[in-house]
Amino acid sequence: MKTDIRLPLGLPEFTVLKQEITENKVVIQVETVDPPERCPYCGFQELKKHDQRLRSVRDLPIHNRPVYLIIQLKRWHCTNCQEIFDEHLPSVPKSKHQTHRFRKYVFDMCHGVTISYVSRQVHLPYKTVERIYYDLAEQEINKVESSGCIGIDEIAVRKGHVYETVVTDLVSGQVHEMGANRDYESALDVMSTLCEQDIHLIVMDMWRPYYKAAQTLFPHATIVIDKYHVVQKVNQAFDVIRKSVSKELKGVKNGRFALLKRHFRLTDKQNKKLDEYHSQSEELAYAYYLKEWFYDLYEQHDSNQAETFLDTWIQAALQSPFKPFHDFSKTLVTWKTHILAYFRLPYTNARTEGTNHKIKNLKRRAYGYRNRERFRLRVKLECGCFQQDHSLLHFASA
Ligand SMILES: [Zn+2]
Repeated sequence: MKTDIRLPLGLPEFTVLKQEITENKVVIQVETVDPPERCPYCGFQELKKHDQRLRSVRDLPIHNRPVYLIIQLKRWHCTNCQEIFDEHLPSVPKSKHQTHRFRKYVFDMCHGVTISYVSRQVHLPYKTVERIYYDLAEQEINKVESSGCIGIDEIAVRKGHVYETVVTDLVSGQVHEMGANRDYESALDVMSTLCEQDIHLIVMDMWRPYYKAAQTLFPHATIVIDKYHVVQKVNQAFDVIRKSVSKELKGVKNGRFALLKRHFRLTDKQNKKLDEYHSQSEELAYAYYLKEWFYDLYEQHDSNQAETFLDTWIQAALQSPFKPFHDFSKTLVTWKTHILAYFRLPYTNARTEGTNHKIKNLKRRAYGYRNRERFRLRVKLECGCFQQDHSLLHFASA
């Protein structure tokens, strides 16, 4: 079915010559309204039309039908410098087969869904959608305004200790940057993207390379050790002790759960079990008590109280017979200032954990990105600055 209804184009540089709307597409023949004012080479104003050819580009769909603009593209001849040039089209990027606005439309559509889904929706080859997405991605990643509080964390993206370093804004939760590995150089790379921003707080694990990189780039920022990482360390130390003690005891092997759980979360049955283990081994009871006691650190009201607590605990741990607690105490002494900094600036990397989850999902959705750079872009766009178009989210399962 053909119709003569004229649809507004909204591209002021063109005048519509002919429009053809059929069942499955819209073809619009256009030409530019104004000739070029000057020669782009010499600025001369006397130009002659040289020739004309047709150029077909995709534009925004109309009534769910793909739109093809057939542009009568003119070439001009400069009577001064003799150069021949194409007329400039503000709405079509050079040597591309789509208008700017159509490319942006395709790019926006890709948010939260797969490239192949969009490819089917817009009737474009997969490769084309992919190219549009990654062409625009770099442009769209405008620098995220930082709150000044960032978290740096590692995430295991594949089995076998393959890590990414992720820097997240602790207030907005957005990903600032992501880079391969978790060594000093990669941490420098990732964090140096924020050098122009006023970073005054950095939350991290007790991980030397991150610490060194943060100190190099932001010497005046306060470094806070993530509290969840600290308590994880005490649990790990206790677990080593538990394993060695329980070798000599009956039934304690299965008691891991009760022993590692916080005492107030235990069920009656687990409490009974715990009593049994403790009556069997004074050593285990001793270690368990030290571990549980350590958790009170984060119940302290200010950094002075916390410091007194920490000193007392470290003394007690050093007097205990447990090597893992001795080692942990040494770690605490090394990082003490930054552990205590939490009591002045109570920030954690808890939000980063959520983002890490999202990154892993992205990885899974794309069956693993073989191209690192593309993976990085996708993460920054999906977990970062790009404002999500929620209307598209229900397609996400596609
Ligand atoms: Zn010229």
